[in-house]
Amino acid sequence: MEKQLQDKARELLESGKADVIIGYGWNRDKSHTTPVFIKKAEDVGKLVFNKLCVNNLSVYLTRKYPDVYAMGKRAIVAKGCDIKNIVVMMSEGQLKRDEVHIIGVTCDGVIFDQDAWAKAEDGSADMGAELKDAVTATKCHNCDVRNPHLTDTLIGDKSNFTPPDEPVGFVFDKIKDIEKMDSRDKWQFWMGHFSRCIKCYACRQVCSLCYCERCISDKNMPQWIETSAHLRGNLAWNLIRAQHLTGRCTFCGECERACPANIPLNVINQKMSLVMGEAFDYKSGYDPKEHPPMIVFNPDEDKDDFIK
Ligand code: SF4
Ligand code: SF4
Ligand code: SF4
Repeated sequence: MEKQLQDKARELLESGKADVIIGYGWNRDKSHTTPVFIKKAEDVGKLVFNKLCVNNLSVYLTRKYPDVYAMGKRAIVAKGCDIKNIVVMMSEGQLKRDEVHIIGVTCDGVIFDQDAWAKAEDGSADMGAELKDAVTATKCHNCDVRNPHLTDTLIGDKSNFTPPDEPVGFVFDKIKDIEKMDSRDKWQFWMGHFSRCIKCYACRQVCSLCYCERCISDKNMPQWIETSAHLRGNLAWNLIRAQHLTGRCTFCGECERACPANIPLNVINQKMSLVMGEAFDYKSGYDPKEHPPMIVFNPDEDKDDFIK
């Protein structure tokens, strides 16, 4: 698969169809992968794809990275879940279809717990189904895009995985647990987690759908959110961010992975996605021509008349 990927990257660079390949490469000691930006055909050997390719590289297609934009025509190595973010960016007018060459890679899942995986790989722990499940990201257990859905080039063997009818895994178990709580316990649950937020904004920076030129948290006239690492404003920041991602978040999981305070951001974002599914029969990231429900308004169809 890597050979296929490298050959395609070389072809794109040599033909001038791409000036930069945004992909994955090894870090120095091969303990994890890191984003790489390949501009010369002789460097394509640095491109890899494996279970450690967790990062959603679509963030490098946003206006947060003008230096990557300035590199010229971009091609990106993307898993199906990353492509969902690209699709949302297209549906929101942030990216045109012909502005990026998508090298879609078929995928069997990525892992977050690299230590556990390393032990299993070197034989010091048994790689049974249980361990495999424990280290594989929840999103992968529910994934319906292991065969990427929007590509210019497809790399890898077809996956025969069928996702479960109902979402499974820690995130969805937690949502069910919280739904059973009374409002006081729900409040305490979330305030307990939000109290650890240090407003580092890693969740925002890693998210390709948090692309506002000026985030509401940076506005100070008026100042909507207390931006310092203080308890004040933690609830506002986390709720505003969840609200701004409602109907848009694709469950790529990057915000929770980046959060140094281990706040279960996937739980809140996925709860909002379930609500959007029930209310609008909508799932984000599948159709670049379909706009997320929260950004469309049609006075003729709206059943409420308060805004007419
Ligand atoms: S969600 Fe799907 S495409 Fe994304 S890493 Fe998991 S299995 Fe691969
Ligand atoms: S909010 Fe988090 S899970 Fe959702 S798209 Fe952004 S980084 Fe991914
Ligand atoms: S990454 Fe975590 S700690 Fe940092 S601002 Fe986001 S929620 Fe708060």
